[in-house]
Amino acid sequence: MYLLAVLVALLVGLAVGKAWERYKLRDGRWIDRRRLRETPHYMLGLNFLIDNQVDQAIEELTLATSTDTDALEIQMILGNLYRQKGQVGRAINVHQALLQRPDLTTLEQAYVLLCLGLDFRHGGFVDRAIETFHEVLRLDPKNRYALVNLQKLYEEQHQWAEALRVREQVGKIDAGRHPDDRQILGFLRNEIGLEQQRAGHGAAAARTFADAIDADVRTVPAYLNLGDVREQQGNPAGAIEVWERLIAAVPEHAHFALERLERAYRRLGTPHRFADLCRRLIDRDPQGWRARLALARHLASGGQHRAALDQLLDALPHHPHALAIHQQIWEVLAALGFDASLIRRYVELTHEAVFYLDPHICRRCRYRSTEPLWQCPQCHEWNTFVEERLAPAKDTVAAQAIDARL
Ligand SMILES: [Zn+2]
Repeated sequence: MYLLAVLVALLVGLAVGKAWERYKLRDGRWIDRRRLRETPHYMLGLNFLIDNQVDQAIEELTLATSTDTDALEIQMILGNLYRQKGQVGRAINVHQALLQRPDLTTLEQAYVLLCLGLDFRHGGFVDRAIETFHEVLRLDPKNRYALVNLQKLYEEQHQWAEALRVREQVGKIDAGRHPDDRQILGFLRNEIGLEQQRAGHGAAAARTFADAIDADVRTVPAYLNLGDVREQQGNPAGAIEVWERLIAAVPEHAHFALERLERAYRRLGTPHRFADLCRRLIDRDPQGWRARLALARHLASGGQHRAALDQLLDALPHHPHALAIHQQIWEVLAALGFDASLIRRYVELTHEAVFYLDPHICRRCRYRSTEPLWQCPQCHEWNTFVEERLAPAKDTVAAQAIDARL
């Protein structure tokens, strides 16, 4: 779908762009572009293209080029269609041949190079793709497609500083119109901070993580990592400050900080602050099961098994499939000597529950992961994972509604 969007955008841009006068001098003769539109193959090809019927689109557009072999935009699109079909070598040949034309305008040259860059990227020729997108930008410095492709290539190479520099240029072009810009800048800064941290530059990493939070207050891993640096520097109070700030800024992701906070409160000799925090989170979101699970673990570790079990049995109806809740219940039941009446309560609650281990799903491409991920390994988008919740088996209509929303 992404490629199709690029194609349609290119097509519309080329069809209406100022660069396209009706008449163009080619090889010393005048060509009437209206003639092209009068052949049925051109319009049929476009319709197949929009319908995503690639083979038929190639067939019709090839027939259309026999009417006007100079039609640059059709050759460009044909090249793109070969790429989409996986025939990268053929796509590269078509686009490179177009670059040999002596009379291309700067804009035309930039568009053909953009297509060629996409061919190289698709074929895995990373260096040539990067070089080609830079060439596009020399001709057309505000070409957003070229910039975004460069950003993704640098990300794939883990060249986070270069990716950030390119994304900042995209942000300038978007001028606040694209809501993802701040989020992506935050995540890229966070990656740079992680590299600094691994290299042992704790102070620099801390500054970069703080910058990531400044770029976007919802950059969850930057809070976690900044707290980790402070903790390593022997500053548990500072770590607690930043983790509590995460919970205030992004309450739906509070659970990421819970284990760390429990450890840090304990280290400061104030473990009761953890139970208080969990109870505040439960009050704010009574359906949230993670705060109940964290509180249950905390209570169990302090020997309060009965209170822990109450929390777990309250959490279970909200998320009957979470294996982590069941495992904690088994531990607590064991600690309570497998009391028959408690086991009966548990069995009644788990009736019809389904167990599963991969509750996180990418909103964009539906990739599933047991762990929550900040960048999708399949579609490479940032911050697209949501927790998938299944209703009990009898309630399949609601489950499908949740599924449809995703
Ligand atoms: Zn994805």
